[in-house]
Amino acid sequence: MFDLTGKKALVTGGSRGIGRGIAICLAKQGADVAINYHSKKDEAEVVAAKIKAMGREAFTVQADVSKTEDVVRMFAEVMAKWGKLDILANNAGIAPVATSIDQTTDEQWDSIININLKGQFLCAREAVKVMKPGSKIINTASIASGGVGGGFGGLASYVASKGGVVGLTEDLAVDCGSKGINVNAVAPGIIETDMTKEFIGNPDVAKGFIAHIPKGRFGKPEDIGAAVAFLASDEADYITGAVIYVDGGWLAA
Ligand code: NAP
Repeated sequence: MFDLTGKKALVTGGSRGIGRGIAICLAKQGADVAINYHSKKDEAEVVAAKIKAMGREAFTVQADVSKTEDVVRMFAEVMAKWGKLDILANNAGIAPVATSIDQTTDEQWDSIININLKGQFLCAREAVKVMKPGSKIINTASIASGGVGGGFGGLASYVASKGGVVGLTEDLAVDCGSKGINVNAVAPGIIETDMTKEFIGNPDVAKGFIAHIPKGRFGKPEDIGAAVAFLASDEADYITGAVIYVDGGWLAA
């Protein structure tokens, strides 16, 4: 089950953190993986080397997912190399420093919305142009996406961007149903990556968060990677328009 042998996958923001975990999990299941990065080429190359050592194909591709011309070029590079794309893991994203709304600048709002939400739209748009029936798009939302609790405060731009991802996912699932393309989202809880290292590294703050997580630990990138690999598989073919919360029970608590 969950065999991805011969499938071609593109993971945005695959150079670090959750994207790295997704890329490696997809490769473990047999997929070949294109690893997108924004600025950290060296880290992306390390991920590609690890995947090649597993006997899969891998290459890196630079693009700022918030820029249409970069995204169009990235998909052209992937298609030139492989001639097809079966899986898009729309993962690239950033988080702001928490600031109350009166301290939130236009620049902060625009950069978060453009990278986290517009970026997933732009990549999905290019993917749908080239994907064949049976292909899978997996977006990345968050427990901080609204509608399900999990409010943090001071993260308006981030929560708005991730709530937008949930809406985008549902609409694309309907839009792409007749094309045979499944569109789902994973919604991570608190995962150990560069994005969260500051507060996870603060023992008092970390203790407070852990107390709220029924599984009693922070998530690892592979926890999200496993869910993405499942959603990318043929076995998940009847799942579309869904948001899978991978949060150690955070939202249930
Ligand atoms: P991370 O460790 O900070 O890694 C971010 C990744 O996104 C890097 O690969 C980075 O590329 C890439 N990236 C950033 N801006 C980009 C841009 N404009 N164009 C292309 N790539 C860009 O973050 P993470 O924690 O793994 O988060 C990954 C995703 O999960 C994000 O969408 C985030 O919102 C979501 N998420 C994370 C958590 C969590 O607790 N960590 C929880 C819920 C949701 P470079 O390496 O080149 O900079």
